[in-house]
Amino acid sequence: MKKKRSFKDVLRNIKNWFKTCIRKVYNYFLCKRYPFLKCYNVFTEKFIGYSTTWYDDIPAGWRKAFGKELLKELKKTLKKNQELNTFRFTQIKEKYGHLCLYHAAATRETSKVLEKYETLSEKYCIHCGRKAEYMTEGWITFVCEKCFDEKIEAKKDFFGFASPEVFQKYKESRKINNEN
Ligand SMILES: [Zn+2]
Repeated sequence: MKKKRSFKDVLRNIKNWFKTCIRKVYNYFLCKRYPFLKCYNVFTEKFIGYSTTWYDDIPAGWRKAFGKELLKELKKTLKKNQELNTFRFTQIKEKYGHLCLYHAAATRETSKVLEKYETLSEKYCIHCGRKAEYMTEGWITFVCEKCFDEKIEAKKDFFGFASPEVFQKYKESRKINNEN
């Protein structure tokens, strides 16, 4: 039996449609300003549209902490080296707590700019962009105190901390030196 669509479903669909439109418009202007954020199909090299950009692949905390600076500095350098319309990212991801900005080809100067932000990423919480003060175990990430506590709290049963003192000791052991 086919389920009847409720008024709520229709509303939700409209809401999603609007959200998609707004995102596309936002991405259109973002790519107009920073053409290297446009995504292309790896095989056909065709532009895939504005529903997503490379900027979406940078974790939220890092976007907040230095995202716009990265875009501005990269654009300036690409322009200077006449690469603005040819430079392409191939992958953007987090690895061992660091931002990785893989690209097809670039001049030495451009590579240096990218490396600078890759190194900078360990100084900021990947989740919220605050100063990173702890390194998580297992899946390595650099996080602020608040996010560290939240992640550990969620896994409390898994870690099985016997007492607040044991937890405090564990926390101390995960602290990193993050002086600029
Ligand atoms: Zn945080």
